[in-house]
Amino acid sequence: MFDHPSFDRHERVLFAHDVTTGLRAIVAIHSSALGPAAGGSRFWHYPTNTDALTDALRLSRGMSYKNAMAGLPLGGGKSVVMMDPSRPKTPAMLEAFGRFVESLQGQYITAEDVGATVTDMEIVATQTSYVSGLPRTAVTADGNPSPKTALGCYLGIKAAVKFKLQKEELRGLTIAVQGLGGVGYELCKLLAADGAKLRVADVRDSVVQKAVAQFDAVSSMPDTILLERADVIAPCALGAVLDATTIPKLQTSIVAGAANNQLATAANGARLHAAGILYAPDYVINAGGIISVGREYLGGATVESINAEIHRIPERLTEIFTRSRTSNRPTSDIADEMARQLLAEAR
Ligand code: NAD
Repeated sequence: MFDHPSFDRHERVLFAHDVTTGLRAIVAIHSSALGPAAGGSRFWHYPTNTDALTDALRLSRGMSYKNAMAGLPLGGGKSVVMMDPSRPKTPAMLEAFGRFVESLQGQYITAEDVGATVTDMEIVATQTSYVSGLPRTAVTADGNPSPKTALGCYLGIKAAVKFKLQKEELRGLTIAVQGLGGVGYELCKLLAADGAKLRVADVRDSVVQKAVAQFDAVSSMPDTILLERADVIAPCALGAVLDATTIPKLQTSIVAGAANNQLATAANGARLHAAGILYAPDYVINAGGIISVGREYLGGATVESINAEIHRIPERLTEIFTRSRTSNRPTSDIADEMARQLLAEAR
């Protein structure tokens, strides 16, 4: 464990197995320096157990950085539920997961991530109170974080365009969006309303057709859309899309999207920088969702105050862009350094 390449001084890593339901889950708590460790649960079929552990370790560290940079009094954690493709997710399995989260007595707070829905979190919530992303109540924001993540990304894209292209507006700019799921589709709505010309791709053809009709978008292929000429590319599907093979082929000057862990390795931040491409660090631009579910959990926030916090994402990005330009260093390194500094100060 301690020699695992993605182990980065994580505070705790816990493994759970529920005999009755077959639940196999890992909770990784990277840091609780700023508060209880918060981060969603990913329900995913992993080829190997090592892949699941790697994901939990990387994603939980990412949550520490994301929560710190978003100014939330929350640490970083993440859970992965290792799905067996032959066994569907059941309410009993979700309840067992809820009991696992409850056993940690608030050291870890869960919410939805890839493969989980608001309804799933409602089932988890029957067993634990350490869960967020639940349906809207009279005082809280809507549990679904995706529209908030899309809003933060939209504002972040505008900040990147202003910084790199000196343009106040998106009208007439070509923006390529890979992945039209909860976040990507909402992002397209906001971009199209601003007059951006959209190129879109998804592995689900129906959603591509819908976007083409609704936004007058041009459809592209899922695996090449990020390599086509565009003013901005917005990866909103998978991680690790930016690597030594793809970066030299990019025909854009801005990468700004929602997907977590867009850089296959940290070295790719330097590759983007050397190529003159402005990269909006993923965990800074995609923090809208955690701001929403984090504030929902902490209580006392309103829809308006949450929106106001999301509107501060562009400020943070512009600070990172400026420091990167001044010091001639990659934006990803600057963001990591700022996040680590916040954690060290809190410790
Ligand atoms: P989602 O599962 O709703 O959507 C993902 C979409 O990508 C789906 O439509 C899927 O068909 C498509 N897709 C999968 N593989 C693809 C490929 N190779 N090419 C093109 N499209 C492909 O997920 P989401 O909630 O929209 O999240 C999108 C990304 O943003 C993920 O990486 C997620 O980790 C990250 N993120 C999401 C949130 C949030 O609030 N939902 C917050 C922060 C980060």
